[in-house]
This record gives sequence, structure tokens and C-alpha cells, in this order.
Amino acid sequence: MRVLLLSDIHGNLEALEACLGEASAYDLALNLGDIVGYGASPNEVIDRSRQLGKHFVRGNHDKACAGLMDVRGFNPIAAAAVVWTHHQLTPDNLKWLKALPLGPLSVDGLEGVQMVHGSPRDEDEYILVSEDAAESTANTRVPVTFFGHTHIQGGFRLEGNHEATMRPNYRSLQSKASWELKLEKSVNYLINPGSVGQPRDGDWRAGYAMFDSAKRTVTFYRVPYDLEKAQKRILEAKLPERLAARLAQGR
Ligand code: ZN
Repeated sequence: MRVLLLSDIHGNLEALEACLGEASAYDLALNLGDIVGYGASPNEVIDRSRQLGKHFVRGNHDKACAGLMDVRGFNPIAAAAVVWTHHQLTPDNLKWLKALPLGPLSVDGLEGVQMVHGSPRDEDEYILVSEDAAESTANTRVPVTFFGHTHIQGGFRLEGNHEATMRPNYRSLQSKASWELKLEKSVNYLINPGSVGQPRDGDWRAGYAMFDSAKRTVTFYRVPYDLEKAQKRILEAKLPERLAARLAQGR
């Protein structure tokens, strides 16, 4: 089975369309949360995401934009985007967002795989270093965890007591690029497909990944998208300017 992995779209329709336009055929799409918040196209992104299937876990921005948590833990710019997004959502999309499930979730037909937003033990935890990866999965026997939240493409491999960080190695930041990882037996993996709509790994291009369950490979992708259009929409919506500027920096 070929599985499209999407995470942290954050209301960026231009980035999402670029990923979907480049993605080769797949059987299933998994969405790891933070569908909205920051970007200027929340309804369009939710509509498009809903067309891709039914496998979602909620993210912290989804929770906040749905009104399920207050924004006190958010910085002022993120909080402003949450309030703006909440008021933009159609009643149907608001209802849908509120009903998104909490991870971890397993997926029918995909053995040994789970999907989470933050980590298996806490949907709001950031897994930034390999020690976090090991600790957060200490109580799970699931070999492959797909996660998001950090907006950093790559992940971690855990083999016995050895932990290692994996980051795709791309030659440039301009054109589209891919990097394939072969999954080994007896190694546990935490895989972050990267952020579609607001990367923070210094690479402005939209990130996604494809998991091939038969070949046991994960291929990471970066695709250029219409950055200026996404920025223009943010400014026209009177969202904080920083949200437009950071897209160009990938920070
Ligand atoms: Zn996010």
C-alpha cells in the first residue's frame, strides 16, 4: 500500500495544492494534524483535506481554532491567527474540526503503524531530539510512528539503546527534491513528513512524504509552491505580517 503523509498544512492552500499536484498515485492519505491556523485559506484547506479520505488526528491549532482550548499557551501571533481562523470557518467545517480525533490512531490495513500529532504519549509534545523520541515511545510496541507538530522533516531511528536523528539531505532549496529512507527490521522509527504549509527547518518548500508498506520505504519530498500568492492572501486577510514573512524563510 502506498500512503501519502501530510502534516501541518496550517491553512496554506497553495502549498497543499503543490504537494497534491506532485504526489504520485497513492492508496491512502494520512493527515497528522494542524490543518488550519496561520494561513489564510482555512476553509479551502479543510474542504480539500476532507476529499482525501478519513484518516486524521487533530493538532493543537485545530483544537484551538475549533474553540476546544484557549489560546493562553500560544504566542500573540499564533493566538491572533487562531481567533481569525475560528471566525472564518463555515459552520460545517467548524463542526468537523471539533470532532477530529485525538491520536494515537492505528490505521486499518496498515500493520505496525500509528499516527499522532505530537507524540504517542502527549498530542502536544514536541519531539525535537532523539532522547525525546525514545522516551515518548518507551511504552509503545508500534514499530513506526508518523508524527508532526515540529514542522521539521525527517525523524528518528531507535535500535536497542541507539538513537539517531534522520534529516533528508537535499542539494539545493530551489527545485523539487526527494530523499528515500529504507526501513530496517528490528528498528523502530518516528517519521515526520515535514510541514506542508509552514516549514521550520530552513527550507521554504512544502514538505510531505510517501510510505510504501510493501517496499518498506519512506520517501520525503520538497516541492516549490506559489509562495507569493500564499503571502498575499495572508496580508489581505490582515493576519500578522510575520506569518507571511516566515514562509519565505522556512522558519
Ligand atoms: Zn503545526
